[in-house]
Amino acid sequence: MQNPHPGSVCPADGRELPPVEASSRDDVRQAIISARKAQVEWSQLGLAARAELLKQVGRRILDNQEEGCQLLSDDTGRGTTECRMTEIASTGDYIKGAVRAAKVALAPERIKLSSLDFPGKRVVVESAPRGVIGIIAPWNYPVSNFYKSLWPALLAGNGVVMKPSEHTPRSGAWLAAQCAAILPAGLVGLVQGRGDVGQGLIDEGVDSIVFTGSVPTGRKVALAAAERLIPASLELSGKDAAIVLSDCDLERTVMGIAQWSMHNAGQNCAGIERVYVEEAIADDFVQRLGAVADKLQVAPAEGPTDLGPLQNANQLAIVERHVADARAKGAQLVSGGEATGQGYGYRPTVLDHCSPDMLVVSEETFGPVVAVIRVADAAEAIQQANDSKYGLNGSVWTRDIPRGEALARRLEVGVALVNNHSFTGILPETPWTGVKETGTGIAASRHAYHSFVRPRTVLVDSSSKPDPFWFPANDDLEAMSQALVLRNQGSFGALFKLAGLLGKRIKAIKALAQG
Ligand code: NAD
Repeated sequence: MQNPHPGSVCPADGRELPPVEASSRDDVRQAIISARKAQVEWSQLGLAARAELLKQVGRRILDNQEEGCQLLSDDTGRGTTECRMTEIASTGDYIKGAVRAAKVALAPERIKLSSLDFPGKRVVVESAPRGVIGIIAPWNYPVSNFYKSLWPALLAGNGVVMKPSEHTPRSGAWLAAQCAAILPAGLVGLVQGRGDVGQGLIDEGVDSIVFTGSVPTGRKVALAAAERLIPASLELSGKDAAIVLSDCDLERTVMGIAQWSMHNAGQNCAGIERVYVEEAIADDFVQRLGAVADKLQVAPAEGPTDLGPLQNANQLAIVERHVADARAKGAQLVSGGEATGQGYGYRPTVLDHCSPDMLVVSEETFGPVVAVIRVADAAEAIQQANDSKYGLNGSVWTRDIPRGEALARRLEVGVALVNNHSFTGILPETPWTGVKETGTGIAASRHAYHSFVRPRTVLVDSSSKPDPFWFPANDDLEAMSQALVLRNQGSFGALFKLAGLLGKRIKAIKALAQG
């Protein structure tokens, strides 16, 4: 298959798909203006009412799932079973969880003030919506990638403008249409196109940007957001490591590693790409993993498939280059290692005897390729796993749970797991985040709300008296400042001194006021 215009053909079979027009700069501007207008009323609704409407959107997504799955399947080439399972089926639960996280994140915080020092005053810190949130998404999960930001942004009282990837424009548009059918007109806007449209979204006035994608684009987004002095959440690439210890449950471990390396054809930011295996069980592990990989079904095929194709020609070229580089440097091909010849399909691939100088170990591959690195022990595995510029998920596979937990905590990652991998991405109450070049972003959970709200301090003073440190300065103010120092040094007597000075100071302030 040639290299067609992004998003114009189905990656599984090269079938041409209906064209999607790119948004103009004016379209982008208008989408932001409409979202801003709708947001004013939306923010006044209150969390409970907003949550109810989002639950209605969730029900609509489930009711229209056949249409959504078909569009997802066209855009990604995956089978509809995989699309439903990964992107649609849990929508209702996800929104309910997002509402629980929102209740925690948005709860006003009452600050306790001393009534002696601050008589008649109360203060509360509340969360004010930022306004309009721009969400720029990649193509690997064209609908559910939006969930981590779309629901919290709306629950917090913001408007949103979504920009799906140019590679998967139809499924992103479908999600926006489900929102538009229930929510106030313009509240969730949609813009389509390539990087210039994403850049336009930042430049044209959103109040915060949530970006998920590659490191080079993330850097551009960070710079553009810095120019506008708006927050940017950056969820970037990964190169996840799994550590397989010799006491693991080998059968379950092999299936878990196969799942989270081949899932979505490896096009998963938290896909397992590096497996550090203790030498003692390496032969057995590699043989079993290779046998499983050989049996996986790649779309298109009869019946449900295990993985779809790569999404685009560029991604296929990256995978082919990484595998060729590994083989040239001495990696042993256990299974796969070639394109299927249908669309952008690539066979599930296991490479043994990999080393840090290989691209499959150092760079994100984003394909159905597992690099096995044999290590002497857990210490060497941890050291090598951490020797990476990325850090999204990391896992340790062992029967010794306390040891596994201790080792997992030594991994330099945002999500550390024992005997599993990746799947906290579907939990709306746990932060999805990474370290190093995986970016500064925090998606999902109450911890993500910095992108969606700013804290607003509200102080109300009902005191009938002026504050004692107000003008004019006089000797009593000097005495008061000395007494305050003494009190902060723990002197009990200073309290009486302060109480005595209070009346005098109020009198002086009143005298000044009355001329
Ligand atoms: P990409 O960086 O090429 O594109 C991502 C989005 O950014 C697209 O919508 C694109 O049109 C837009 N874009 C491009 N240039 C832009 C610019 N200058 N300004 C604003 N927007 C611009 O990434 P991709 O190839 O679509 O996605 C794959 C990458 O995403 C992988 O590296 C993967 O690891 C990463 N990813 C990370 C996470 C995470 O949570 N950390 C999740 C999913 C995917």
